[in-house]
Amino acid sequence: MGNFETLEEEVIKKGKCTHCGACISVCPDYNIEWGLDDRPRMDKGKGMCKNCTECYDGCHRVNGHFKSKELDEYLFGRARKVNETLGIYKKIVSARAKDEEILKYAQDGGIATAIAIYLLEKNEVDGVITTGKTEGNGNWKPKPIIARDKRELLSASGSKYYIAPILMKLKDGVIDMELDRLAIIGLPCQIRSARYLQMIEADLAPAITVTIGLFCTKNYEYDKLSALIRANGINMKDVNKMDVSGGKFHIYSNSNDITVSLKEMEDIVPAFCSDCEDYAAEFADISVGSNGSTKGWSTVIIRTDKGLQLFTELEEKGYIEIKNMDNLEVVVSNSEKKRQKTLNFQN
Ligand SMILES: Cc1cc2nc3c(=O)[nH]c(=O)nc-3n(C[C@H](O)[C@H](O)[C@H](O)COP(=O)(O)OP(=O)(O)OC[C@H]3O[C@@H](n4cnc5c(N)ncnc54)[C@H](O)[C@@H]3O)c2cc1C
Ligand code: SF4
Ligand code: SF4
Ligand code: SF4
Repeated sequence: MGNFETLEEEVIKKGKCTHCGACISVCPDYNIEWGLDDRPRMDKGKGMCKNCTECYDGCHRVNGHFKSKELDEYLFGRARKVNETLGIYKKIVSARAKDEEILKYAQDGGIATAIAIYLLEKNEVDGVITTGKTEGNGNWKPKPIIARDKRELLSASGSKYYIAPILMKLKDGVIDMELDRLAIIGLPCQIRSARYLQMIEADLAPAITVTIGLFCTKNYEYDKLSALIRANGINMKDVNKMDVSGGKFHIYSNSNDITVSLKEMEDIVPAFCSDCEDYAAEFADISVGSNGSTKGWSTVIIRTDKGLQLFTELEEKGYIEIKNMDNLEVVVSNSEKKRQKTLNFQN
């Protein structure tokens, strides 16, 4: 039991907050906002806290709240076996979008964007909560968005290497925009938070219709990442793409391309990534990454019945093409490595 003050003490001030934005959405009185210091803060101007405990109860990072085993049972009807390193799933394939426009802007095989476009075009969701880019000079700074059409999804595609509090958009979508069916594309920690809201039957949770998770080893503090890029002579507005491969961080820009060793970037990884054991977005309907597939293709892990139905439709209706995975072992190995690094993995 707690209120926002307790949440601040137990999660936010301890650097455990994963910036999911869920507490903002679950507060019935609009008391919480995303602060300029990049963390949730009490917005005293908008109302008075009624100590209702919703923000505390809805935070997946409060000690003892999120339990992988319970969530496995809730989503898949059973706990995972010890050898199910990637979490429970039905099928793993390599896939890519068929639409050239998607492939032009996508990070890898454009599967995340293709799924989202399909959901909107077939009217299976009303909007897609995901991560867009801030306009102007800081245009790689991630920002939460609700995409409503293909154009918005294309401009959001590609990986931004920091995190935005996307679940604060849940309230905007459901209450302000009156959208009943929302897909979520997010990092493993964002998918965990969304699933946690479903498991505790938070008021807004029924609107979460489909979850698409991205693989994630780690993330980088935006201000420090952009300082590093500028120090290498590249203006942020000239950056075309960032990517991680072969133990290196690659930045492609209009002026020149640079490569930085991931070891050199260790000190700009946010504190909250240090105890994260989820590499392959283990609780999404469908998880997508690049690891294990050839360049330009995505590795796709289909986990739930809903995910399987959706993915089959995408293939049948010609949105995507599929082939066998090139290297499943490397995905399993990366997942194992991430879990081993985590000290407080909850079973
Ligand atoms: C921080 C980060 C770390 C990653 N680490 C790995 C890794 O270690 N191994 C691996 O195989 N893959 C990793 N990925 C996933 C990979 O970069 C691609 O996102 C994934 O392969 C999907 O490619 P796609 O072509 O299908 O995506 P696209 O079709 O280009 O769509 C990407 C979608 O992801 C959303 N998105 C972009 N940036 C973010 C963000 N910061 N937070 C939440 N959503 C975002 C976009 O809004 C878009 O909807 C990482 C992604 C991110 C953002
Ligand atoms: S709900 Fe999310 S944003 Fe809010 S404190 Fe918890 S982890 Fe941070
Ligand atoms: S009103 Fe409830 S949800 Fe909002 S800040 Fe206070 S305790 Fe948290
Ligand atoms: S490493 Fe974990 S906590 Fe950090 S951004 Fe990735 S999924 Fe979130």
